[in-house]
Amino acid sequence: MSDTEPPESTAASLRTPIVAVLGHVDHGKTSLLDKVRGSAVIEGEAGAITQHIGATAVPLDVISQIAGGLVDPDDFDLPGLLFIDTPGHHSFTTLRSRGGALADIAILVVDVNDGFQPQTEEAIEILAQSQTPFIVAANKVDTVPGWNPEENAPIKQSLDRQSDRVRGDVDERLYEIIGQLSDKGFSADMYWRVQDFQNNVGVVPVSAMTGEGVPDLLTVMMGLSQRYMKEEMAIDVAGPGVGTVLEVKEEKGFGTTIDVVLYDGVVREDDTIVVGSSGEPIVTDVRALLKPRPLAEIRTESRFEKVDQLKAASGIKIAAPELDRAMAGAPVRVVRDREIDEVVAEVQDELADIAVDAEEQG
Ligand code: GDP
Repeated sequence: MSDTEPPESTAASLRTPIVAVLGHVDHGKTSLLDKVRGSAVIEGEAGAITQHIGATAVPLDVISQIAGGLVDPDDFDLPGLLFIDTPGHHSFTTLRSRGGALADIAILVVDVNDGFQPQTEEAIEILAQSQTPFIVAANKVDTVPGWNPEENAPIKQSLDRQSDRVRGDVDERLYEIIGQLSDKGFSADMYWRVQDFQNNVGVVPVSAMTGEGVPDLLTVMMGLSQRYMKEEMAIDVAGPGVGTVLEVKEEKGFGTTIDVVLYDGVVREDDTIVVGSSGEPIVTDVRALLKPRPLAEIRTESRFEKVDQLKAASGIKIAAPELDRAMAGAPVRVVRDREIDEVVAEVQDELADIAVDAEEQG
């Protein structure tokens, strides 16, 4: 370890849990992600919410502001939540880390009017199989006839404003969803009655339209991660980066690039990386690490800005030679001080695991 390393480089640090959003088409996955992003932008100081490649990081202090008193930052030492921007279980199943799910935790969105639908069932099976902890966002509560909305309010405050008839109507729909979860073998309840989130699924009533329940959703996600995932979130902040390819893309001025979710360690602009492909893994040198440039700064120049290094968990675009054969869903590993052959072998093993999983599922 050279003395030019930052002092934190020897310490383990806690990374941001990676969150995926799943559910049936039109149940509101995209709207919910947009709402979370939108609330974070409004509540955060400029720059507090960081747009990554393919993901959005919502830091703890912004969550605490959105949650308006439900979250005390002093109770938490995880840095926030990283939402994968592409919702849906296709992206969930193709994005893996060491054979498991890339996402540490998931939100299953269920429309309160529609209840369980075929893709809800598929999503549940995938979550069960990958043993990914999840909570249910019972979405579109604002569509219950007679609903009296209050923008971005915590859900209990909102429910208190409703007439007995509306509250009864909401309850009925929520219990239907709880019943459907239990038919699938999940013991579930309204989130405020759940003590043990490891063995029970919490149901959070929300509206992606009005933002009601979003404070609760973020609070529950944060609490769940903090309580049950802290150990898994400990990473060596200076260790060689490990990630998963989200997408392979041609980018003007950079050639073929890969969008990567980094879930461990750090990647630097002078690193050699090994990337999974349909054939032999690709061994190449990073040419540039790119993140989105803030909208305000985009003039005629690139949409991207170069960074020297980035640590997990984060989304990053990597430009490097020879990435044409790179494959979405494949592993990426930084070589750093190790033998290249050893890292290539690891990437090959991981690819083999993914192929077996894909066969089992399909
Ligand atoms: P996705 O396919 O799961 O990503 O669903 P979308 O986010 O695209 O939402 C599908 C439709 O439902 C869109 O027209 C949204 O505007 C609408 N929608 C989503 N969430 C809500 C909600 O909470 N309340 C209401 N009223 N409409 C919603």
